[in-house]
Amino acid sequence: MTTEELTPPEPRRFRLFSIAGTTVDVRPSFLILVGLFVLLALDQDRPRVPLEIALLWIPVLFSSVLVHELAHASVIALFGHGPSEIELGGWGGQTVNRRRAASWQEILISFAGPLSSFALALACSGVLRLLPLESTNIILLAFLGQMREVNVVWGIFNLFPIFPLDGGQILLHGLAHVVKQATALVATTWISIVLAAGLGLAALFLLKAYFVAIIAASLVMQNWGQWQAWRRFQASRAGLSRTDDPGQGPAPHSF
Ligand SMILES: [Zn+2]
Repeated sequence: MTTEELTPPEPRRFRLFSIAGTTVDVRPSFLILVGLFVLLALDQDRPRVPLEIALLWIPVLFSSVLVHELAHASVIALFGHGPSEIELGGWGGQTVNRRRAASWQEILISFAGPLSSFALALACSGVLRLLPLESTNIILLAFLGQMREVNVVWGIFNLFPIFPLDGGQILLHGLAHVVKQATALVATTWISIVLAAGLGLAALFLLKAYFVAIIAASLVMQNWGQWQAWRRFQASRAGLSRTDDPGQGPAPHSF
């Protein structure tokens, strides 16, 4: 989705580690996101959340996002497209790889993230069933419970057919199988705008889930930007020369 011309100057990021050539960086915005979750947990009144439980959001969010992105990167590597760049940022994570993969490969790469989230939730659920509740450390129980919930929600949310979520990538590459790539791109952009707007309104007025509403608004804006870039591209192709080329390169797997 991004082109070199449209990308603003990169904010600061820190290298955490690299594994088989795939780098894992964290942006300060990810730390703000984690801090926000801790503060929101502490702000809860009924039931009151102790500090040590609220602080569990740090390992829970970090490991959940990391597993999800590493699953994308692993399948990318499995298909022979080499190492990727994983970033943990304010909206979760993204896996960047400058590949040119076949549509069916892109679909499997996209599915890998949510599937890994569900597998992690299932594993936590299994361990919770095996542990004797009375004699197990309360922190461990809370950690496993939070991991299970977060990964179910994260997996489902990522499957929404809204670009650039995994579901949006699956929609784009699935459509590209049956219609022209340009038609698939325009259809995905507009389906994403309509669904993200609907999700945002539902989150704001029905669910009172303000964080989801902010993410939905950001998704509407991203897709609107994609639509504008597409129109500029069409105009430049009809009139002058190619200035930018929206959607032709592989998009990162966001979230
Ligand atoms: Zn993903």
